[in-house]
This record gives sequence, structure tokens and C-alpha cells, in this order.
Amino acid sequence: MSYTDVSLLIDGQWTKGAKGRTIPVLNPATEETIGQCAHAETSDLDRALEAADKGFRAWRKVSAFERYKILRKAANLMRERLEDIARIMTIEQGKPLFEARVETGLAADIIDWMAEEGRRTYGRLVPARLENVYQMVMKEPVGPVAAFTPWNFPINQVVRKASAALATGCSIIVKGPEDTPGSCAQLIKAFVDAGVPAGAIQLVYGVPAEISAYLIPHPVIKKVTFTGSTPVGKQLAAMAGLHMKRVTMELGGHAPAIVFEDADLDQAVNILGANKFRNAGQVCVAPTRFLVHEKVYPQFVEKFTDFAKALKVGNGLEADTKMGPLVAERRQHAMDGFVSDAIAKGAKIKTGGKRMGNKGYFYEPTVMTDVPLDAKIMNDEPFGPLAPITPFRDFDSVVAEANRLPWGLAAYAYTRNTKTASAIGQAFESGMVSINHHGLALPEVPFGGMKDSGYGSEGGTEALEAYLNTKFVSQLGM
Ligand code: NAD
Repeated sequence: MSYTDVSLLIDGQWTKGAKGRTIPVLNPATEETIGQCAHAETSDLDRALEAADKGFRAWRKVSAFERYKILRKAANLMRERLEDIARIMTIEQGKPLFEARVETGLAADIIDWMAEEGRRTYGRLVPARLENVYQMVMKEPVGPVAAFTPWNFPINQVVRKASAALATGCSIIVKGPEDTPGSCAQLIKAFVDAGVPAGAIQLVYGVPAEISAYLIPHPVIKKVTFTGSTPVGKQLAAMAGLHMKRVTMELGGHAPAIVFEDADLDQAVNILGANKFRNAGQVCVAPTRFLVHEKVYPQFVEKFTDFAKALKVGNGLEADTKMGPLVAERRQHAMDGFVSDAIAKGAKIKTGGKRMGNKGYFYEPTVMTDVPLDAKIMNDEPFGPLAPITPFRDFDSVVAEANRLPWGLAAYAYTRNTKTASAIGQAFESGMVSINHHGLALPEVPFGGMKDSGYGSEGGTEALEAYLNTKFVSQLGM
């Protein structure tokens, strides 16, 4: 399947924007324009809001069992179309094809999980103080949702929101990622083809700040969910707060990865390396601050540098590619800023540190040592293939460094000592912790952060809770 132009989905119709404006879509590996994405106008948003309102009223009446059947069908369509969808994702986003396949397959698993959990949104009966009084706690869908999702996982970031919203009976307007609109649109298409009715799910693109400023305060919208950077998340949460809208915020992170002196170093290097450079480091839960016990620091640095040097960087469509390009030129620019700042402050580059080639937004897998704590990379989320490695001496000091930053999304540790493993698991100020392996982001487990990484969860049973209101009814006589 070749790349095709991407339309908006409004009230069940795939459509251009009212003025026919479009946004060019680039292949980040070649810098070629591969298609155009429709750009919504305010009049398009008005139609989408009206349809979301109607769509919600209709969809909430569909039984949980029927919704489950439709969603399971959407999951199977994703599986059937996996090869085509993964290819679209790689062409527009840059990630290697094997990563795009995993993301598409996982989307199907996430839909299945939410569909199944949607049948278990139980209420409860609370024993009453008076005879013949029935105190009922009920769960109801919160209403039309506005969702804003980024380009790093064009499907995964959307599917967590869309499938939880639909499974609970909400309608949802997705403002998808303009850099990578095609694969996101394929996910929405799977829901439509499976039978999700007009207005229950819709898709728009345009200027993110304009769309969020229009949708969030609108009275039809009852819930806001955003995945992206912390500064933008704070703006949107503030806007939602002003209008008393329910909010889920899945924001940035700066994950500490601690390697204790008794760790299996090869295991730590292989797992942390794979997850550092996955999706060229453009992952909110990527390990970003490597804190290694001073006794094993030289060996770890050497092994990790070898791992980075051995990575084959290239076009994601090529079978042997392990790391693709960054999503856009602006991200290369951001990497240059982190690297030059670190060097100016005394950091040493063990490998990488530069753009690659003369076409495409490639950046070398980069390993740095001697990075002072006041370097930008030790304080701002790098969101790219940069690995600063810092030695530590004792447990308390490494815990202090791990928790120093305002974020708290993911944290990692490697140790063979069970006591150390338990202690570090307790000590991390982080929404997700994985010890001696990389065990995050499966559908059935919570996914979310604390502190500046946001609030709310997009996995496990908590994911459904975010789309439900609790209502209490006390009734005399039944
Ligand atoms: P950016 O801050 O401009 O955009 C990040 C995302 O937020 C994009 O999807 C964008 O469309 C959206 N966005 C921006 N302003 C918005 C607004 N006012 N209303 C609604 N949506 C808005 O930066 P970028 O160059 O695209 O990405 C860089 C940074 O974004 C990274 O450093 C990283 O911290 C963050 N990011 C985080 C995630 C994540 O998974 N948490 C994903 C992508 C980007």
C-alpha cells in the first residue's frame, strides 16, 4: 500500500477541511513529501462537536456487550491490516518496520483489553441504614472526550485513549499528530469499519494550539486527555481546570536507570541499550539518566558504548535497520543543543554526538560521560538517542539524584540483590518502575506518571476509571 493523503473524519464522513487547506507530510528518512493531511477549520470543529454530542447519546445506549463485540472486531482488523499499517507508520515516522509492527499488534491487544474491561465497569450496593432503602453506586460514561496525541507512537498514544473512551460508552474527538497522521487514521478507520457509529469517534488535524483552545472550553466536551510535553500539558490542564473538565495527562519524563555494582552488566547493557535507542530515543519512558555504581562504571561505559556503536542506523524500511531517523529537523536541532551544551560544560563524547548523512533527520546514537549536573541534558527531557552516564557511590546519593528532577514517569534499576531491588522500588518517585527487565506498557498494567509527568493512568483497570463518572442513587423501595 502506498502512502495516501489523510482526511478528517467528521460525523462518519472522511472529508477535507472546509477550506481545503492541507499540511504536507514528510518521510523523515528521505525528507520527501509523501502526502497531504487535511487541516480542520473552526466550522469543521463545530460539526465534530455537534456530532460528538449526538454520537455520545447514541453510543452510551449501546450495551457494554455490543460495544465489546464491535471493539474486538476493530482489534482483529488491526491484526489483519498489520503489514500495511506498519509500513505507513515507518514511512511517515521513521521507526524501523519491526517496531511499527509491534506497535500495531500491541494496539490490537490494547483494544481487546479495554473491550473486555468495558463489560466489567461494575457499580455496587451499599448497605443502607433504613429498611427498604437501596443505595446504589453506578458508573456512567463521562461524555464526549477531546484527545490530543503525539507523533512518537502515532497509534499507541491514540489507542489507549480511544479504546478506553469507546469501551465505557464515551464519544471521542481525536486531534491526531500532524507529523504522522496516516497510521493514526488507519487506527480510527479500523474502529469505523468495525461498526463504531458516526460521531462516536472522529479525527481532526490542524494547528494543535488552536484546536485545543477551541475544544477544551467547549460545553460539549466533558473530558480532556493529552499525551505530550510537560509545558504544553500544564497549559492544557490549566485550561481544562478553568472549565472544570476531567483530565488525564501523560507527559514527559527523564527516567533514571540505576546499575548497582552487583548487577548483571551484560543484561543491563542489552536491555537498557535497546530501550534507550528504540524509536531513536523518542519515547517518554526511555531511560535517559544512566547512574552506574563507580565500581562497575568503566566496564558499563565501555560495553554501552560498544552497544551504541554497533547499532545500524538507516531507513526503517530496510531489514537490518535498528534505529531510524528522528521525526523532524526540529528534533535534530534539539539534539545539537543538548550535545553542544554538554560539551561546553565539560562532557566527553564516547560515541556519536552528530547528525548523520546529508539526507534524512538521522542522529548518531550518542554516549556521553563526565556530564555535570547543571548540563541541559541532565535537567531537560532529551527525547532522542542521547545517553549520559554518571557514576555514583552509595544508595542514598543515587536515590537523591534519581528523584532530583520534577518528573516521575518511569525508573529502572539493575541489581542481583533482592533487598536492594525492593528498596529501590520503594524509593523511586515514579509512576512506573521496572527492575532487572523492561516490563512497562502492557495493556493490563497501569501506565502513567506522577509529579510533572502528569496524572491519570492509561493502562490496567485504571484506564477505564478515567472515562467514568461515579453516581450515587439512594432509593426507597424497589
Ligand atoms: P511540542 O511540544 O511542540 O509538541 C509535543 C506534542 O504536543 C505534539 O504532538 C503537538 O502536536 C502537541 N501540542 C503542542 N502544543 C499543543 C497545544 N497547545 N494543544 C494541543 N496539543 C499541542 O514539541 P515536539 O517537537 O513535537 O516534541 C518535543 C517534545 O514533546 C519532546 O521533547 C517531548 O518532551 C514531548 N513529547 C512527549 C511525548 C510523550 O509521549 N509524552 C510525545 C511526543 C513529544
